[in-house]
Amino acid sequence: MITRTPIAVHCEEVVSDVAAAIAPEGDWQRQLREVIRDPITLCQRLALDPEWMVGARRGHALFPVRVPEAYLSRITHGDPGDPLLRQVLPLEAESDTVAGFIDDPLEERDHTPKPGLIHKYPGRALLIASPTCAINCRYCFRRHFPYADNAPSMREWDTTLDYLRHDDSIQEVILSGGDPLASPDRRLAALVRQLEAIPHLKRLRIHSRLPVVIPDRIDAALLDWLGGTRLQKVMVLHINHAQEIDGAVVDACERLKAAGVTLLNQSVLLRGVNDDVEALAALSERLIEAGVLPYYLHVLDPVSGAAHFDVPDAEARRLINALRQRLAGFLMPRLVREIPGEQSKTPL
Ligand code: SF4
Repeated sequence: MITRTPIAVHCEEVVSDVAAAIAPEGDWQRQLREVIRDPITLCQRLALDPEWMVGARRGHALFPVRVPEAYLSRITHGDPGDPLLRQVLPLEAESDTVAGFIDDPLEERDHTPKPGLIHKYPGRALLIASPTCAINCRYCFRRHFPYADNAPSMREWDTTLDYLRHDDSIQEVILSGGDPLASPDRRLAALVRQLEAIPHLKRLRIHSRLPVVIPDRIDAALLDWLGGTRLQKVMVLHINHAQEIDGAVVDACERLKAAGVTLLNQSVLLRGVNDDVEALAALSERLIEAGVLPYYLHVLDPVSGAAHFDVPDAEARRLINALRQRLAGFLMPRLVREIPGEQSKTPL
């Protein structure tokens, strides 16, 4: 999943990318290159008991470890129950076969009319703008996604953009991945230039975890192309626990807001990470302090390898009702499930 060739945007960009490869890079690119990729190193750096290493190796073989140093620094050493660690530490349980948990739980492979494009909902379409992530979250519903089949050639990429040009019912493009912000700014800027030239497109939505896991990603080069586009800008962050929001993340959010970006957050309800009212309330409070609106709380998509994170619906409803007793309405995320074939997320 993590070594596939990124999508090329246009011939001239390939030439530019060569230049970019020899140009000095931003510090975020160094941090991205130096993410922890070895499960044993992860355990050792966090002073975990060696008993965790066997499962870590097995889970890593199914879905590789990736943890940025900036994220690692927020994890408590010696605590296997740390809510951030649980999101990134491979476990033996990932090898379990559990009924109902499958490789493509959202049936995305049935909604890819063009390479790199997913069109499930009216009015909006999603581009797989990068096949890689800075962090590999163990519960990810795309942990088995065939990125190799969705890395268009230059010619295919033009036909993907043509699809957007010829469907004027599409008003919003969502950049997803992988993590779209794992792509170089030069490539993203070129893509956004092509998108904003399509008259019927109004909004650019970016789903990213990079401002959270490597806050230095929000640098001047990114703010330049993002702040300059005519498209309305929405960024949906992915934060599951208040402990993920340190001062650097707050500063990154400030920079995005100053560039005119509306910030929303979606979380996943995860056993052992945020499946209690205190954790969910603290997350909403911390999000609003950072200027980010809580948007969705997703129940887990039933992807194989992640069943140990599942929280039953009845418990999810009890938690959200208890949360409602604690928080003002604007701090309440919507508890939803994505059901393949439905025209929108389904409230629980
Ligand atoms: S950052 Fe998002 S796409 Fe990447 S592994 Fe985590 S949840 Fe999946």
